This record gives sequence, C-alpha cells and structure tokens, in this order.
Amino acid sequence: MTTTVAAFAAPAAKAPLERTTVERRAVREQDVRIEIHYSGICHSDLHQVREGWGAAIFPMVPGHEIAGLVVEVGSGVTRYAVGDRVGVGCMVDSCRSCENCRAGLEQYCTGGGPVWTYNSRGKDGEVTYGGYAREIVVDADFVVRIPDALPLDAAAPLLCAGITTYSPLRHWQAGPGKKVAVVGLGGLGHLGVKIGHALGAEVTVLSQSLRKREDGLRLGADHYHATADPATFEQLKGTFDLILNTVSAPLDFAAYFALLRTDGAMVNVGLPEEPVQLTLQSLFGHRRSMSSSGIGGIAETQEMLDFCAAHGLTAEIELITADRINEAYDRLLDGDVRYRFVIDAATI
Ligand code: NAP
Ligand code: ZN
Ligand code: ZN
Repeated sequence: MTTTVAAFAAPAAKAPLERTTVERRAVREQDVRIEIHYSGICHSDLHQVREGWGAAIFPMVPGHEIAGLVVEVGSGVTRYAVGDRVGVGCMVDSCRSCENCRAGLEQYCTGGGPVWTYNSRGKDGEVTYGGYAREIVVDADFVVRIPDALPLDAAAPLLCAGITTYSPLRHWQAGPGKKVAVVGLGGLGHLGVKIGHALGAEVTVLSQSLRKREDGLRLGADHYHATADPATFEQLKGTFDLILNTVSAPLDFAAYFALLRTDGAMVNVGLPEEPVQLTLQSLFGHRRSMSSSGIGGIAETQEMLDFCAAHGLTAEIELITADRINEAYDRLLDGDVRYRFVIDAATI
C-alpha cells in the first residue's frame, strides 16, 4: 500500500511552494522507508522550480539533501535496520550495469542516466518527489549512513553540497602543497572551504565582496579576496593549482583562468542558467583546463560523510520551518544565506 505524506511542492514553474501531499510507494524488497527529519535547500532546487535549466515536471517537490531515520526496510535489505541514521542525495537509482555505474560513478550512468531524487522519472515510470516531505521510500543502494558524530540537521547539506565539492577536490588532488581557490561563498562554497582545508590544501576564498571575510577565515580559508576589486586579479595571477567555481551565474572566465598556474584547472560545479562565453586563447598559454563535475557516486558520498565525521565537519546552517521556504528562496536568490537553509521536516 502506498503512504500519503505531507510535502511542500511548487504547483507550476516559478510558483511559490505550498503545502500538499504526495504518495510514497509501498516498500519493495530492496527499499528503505525513511522518516525525513531535515532537508537542505540547494540552489539547484531554485534553478529547477524556475525552469532555469529547461522544462521541468510539476507539481515539483524539491529537496536532495535529506537526513532522517529508517522506519521500515524491505525483506531483502540487510545493510539497514529500523532506527538507523541515513541520508539520501541527488540520485535514487541508476542502471547499475554500465561502465560508470560499475566504477561507482552512478551520477554519470550511461544506461539511461541516473534517476534524480525529484523532477525525474523512476524506471517504473513514476515521477520522483524529493525531500521537502515527511517521508521518502528509496532503494537501499542509494541510501548512505550518517555517522553518529554528525548531527542530522547540519549533516543534511553534505548530501549534495558536501559531495559536490568533496568529489572534485579529491579528483583534482587538493591537498598539502596545493593552492586551491573557492569562488563563491554560499552553500557549496563554504563546504568547499572546509573540506579543502581538511584535505590540507592552502585555500583562498574569492567572493564578490569582503562582507563574509571573517566567516571565510573561520571556516578554514588561509586567504580571502574580493572579486569586485580589480587588484585581486592582478595580485593573484598564476597562483592556483585548482579553482573550484561554485557560482550559480556566469563569470568572466578569462579573468579566472589567468589566476591558474601552468597545468592548473578550473572546475565549474556552479550551473548557471545562461550559456557562458569563453575564449580558448585564455586557456592555451599555460596548458590550463576548464571542466565541470557532478555530485559524486554513492560509495564516494559515504566516504565523504565518514571523512566529515573524522574531521568534525558539518555545514553552517539556518534551520527554518517549512512555512518559510519561499522566503528562504528569495533570500538565496539575493545571496543572503549563511550558509545553508535547512528545513525542519517536522514542520511540513
Ligand atoms: P548559493 O548558496 O546561492 O551560493 C552561490 C554563491 O555564488 C553565492 O553565495 C555568491 O557567493 C556567488 N554568486 C551568486 N551570484 C553571483 C554572481 N552573479 N556573480 C558572482 N558570484 C555570485 O548556491 P549553491 O547551493 O552553493 O549552488 C551553487 C551552484 O552550484 C548552483 O548553480 C547549483 O545549481 C550548482 N550545483 C551544482 C552541483 C553539481 O553537481 N555540479 C551540485 C549542487 C549545486 P559570494 O557572495 O561569496 O560571492
Ligand atoms: Zn544540490
Ligand atoms: Zn549506469
């Protein structure tokens, strides 16, 4: 039997979110039913509710930073038991047999792509609904364990913002002796700073202004510069091994490429709604590269959570009641967040 659960949904593109209900499927053999305690608000939720990335499915229940407790397990599930502290991120299924799935890169599944946590369709053809809800039913293979050392509310943002910064920082080998710049001190950026610092890299924040300088240094940055100040781009020419760009809007890429050392890489995890422009002349001179990265695989997400537990690392959050979701969206658009809104799901 399906379960009817309270949720917050956008009924149409750009419409305010409102209280509603969604049906969750009956628990299948490999499923876990989770009572959601906390759900982070990612800028990707805004992009999708606004159809900034293209046509979307409505009504939409956003939310892919989910933390809660297991309340029921399917007969075939051995890894989780009732009462376990668990999380769900951006994906709830994939083909599991393509080269990428077998390599633990389910986010790059080539067998039809991953099934996203919301605004997507499962293999059964059903629309997926995300974490702004009281419960969710997910295949156990796409559920991760939240270590006891991490409080559930401040751990929730790790399920997207955490893994999205951890994965490229590891892939591009941020660590001792490496100079890493994090562009944009928002939800992703502030975790990029914490994780980059915990990995041993020398971390610089490049924020639009010096407004959040004290925070940046407290979070673990070694240096902090304002990108509104042209002197920043003069002073830091040729400095970085890696630039992790978390900005949700297009940038003047040539200006940032010039900050890379020879063989340096600029990895863009921010996903602006508009096409971006760049000239290859700004890359070729120093064999610089420009790339992007999407979240991380399931095993890597577990590795990231364990890493965060070992380093006592969580998100800086502003906990909100569900009736403030629309206000939080407005504030996120204005850049008024320190540093992640998390919904107390008990108020949904
Ligand atoms: P966020 O909390 O809004 O942070 C974005 C930050 O970018 C802001 O805090 C601001 O930092 C800076 N910024 C915003 N507008 C800007 C502009 N016009 N020019 C320069 N800087 C600007 O958003 P988020 O949740 O961290 O998400 C950031 C982006 O990553 C979004 O596009 C989201 O969709 C994307 N994302 C991608 C993945 C992936 O897998 N690749 C996963 C999750 C999210 P300052 O105030 O410090 O300048
Ligand atoms: Zn996200
Ligand atoms: Zn696959």
